[in-house]
Amino acid sequence: MAVMGGSSYTRGFHALGRGAFAYLSPPGTWGWSNCGLVIAERRALLVDTQFTVSLTRELLDAIEARFPGVEIATVVTTHANGDHCWGNQLLVDAEVIGSAACEHDMAEEVQPEQLAALSGPNAPDTPLGDYMRRHFGVFDFTDVRVTPPTRTFTGQLKVPLGDRVVELTEVGPAHTDGDVIVHVPDAGVLYAGDILFMGGHPIMWTGPIDNWIAACDRIRDTGANRIVPGHGPVTDPAGVETFRAYLEWVARRAEQAYAAGLPYWEAGAPSTIPQSYGGWGNPERLVITMAAAYRALGESTHGLMEVLAHAAAAEPHKAGR
Ligand SMILES: [Zn+2]
Repeated sequence: MAVMGGSSYTRGFHALGRGAFAYLSPPGTWGWSNCGLVIAERRALLVDTQFTVSLTRELLDAIEARFPGVEIATVVTTHANGDHCWGNQLLVDAEVIGSAACEHDMAEEVQPEQLAALSGPNAPDTPLGDYMRRHFGVFDFTDVRVTPPTRTFTGQLKVPLGDRVVELTEVGPAHTDGDVIVHVPDAGVLYAGDILFMGGHPIMWTGPIDNWIAACDRIRDTGANRIVPGHGPVTDPAGVETFRAYLEWVARRAEQAYAAGLPYWEAGAPSTIPQSYGGWGNPERLVITMAAAYRALGESTHGLMEVLAHAAAAEPHKAGR
């Protein structure tokens, strides 16, 4: 994993140059997502909010403390997963931009009250209930009102910000239906949302994986050299290449295993992961990715709960966590 020098992986803001910042949320596991901030002439564009109202309030307080007087004019929602947009309700004065597919996806996603029920103290006493409690039980979803974009687009959109321009590109469906990447050309910075995970196995909810690989190529083609993933530390083009190679491996593994008649949860078992990705967290998420890859290869739809239950069962080293 390539980590940018001088930008350690600690909670809060990290300067990337020319008024561009990453707001990092270690450890980057389920729900701990990064945000971005671009500032020009006392106006700011925020990339994503946090998973809960209180975590988003913490983010906004940090912005006010570090950048007093700066007004958040625009919020970009990179995709519909709650850990990237369930704080949108606190940005009532900003324009919230997302892809049209993201807006649709936000209504279809697991809703906050459902996730609270699946991961709260009354979650079922099953391996899946235990998994959900351990990974999501620390988040408080009670006040979340899912707040969709106020402006949607397809393809590309250039957003003026003071004296500069920020470029949004829709690259989904890949991780989700409506994935958007955010490029700040005059800073050489790119916010990838969950098109990029660093240090942990990604989750492919929709695919197809070829689109996701193409999205990595689009990131490379921007020439940006500081790249902020949706989860994990800030990286560079070499980090993107490593991640792209992982997706290529998953694509080949899916094709071979599907042809051999292996069920997706065996095809995605953590024991099949090559040594080179052995240090990445949440290896059981490969089961979820493999289910999506199988659907693209023609297998009929799997229910979300079924897929999550297989992932939970595949999680290694559960004891003592
Ligand atoms: Zn995420």
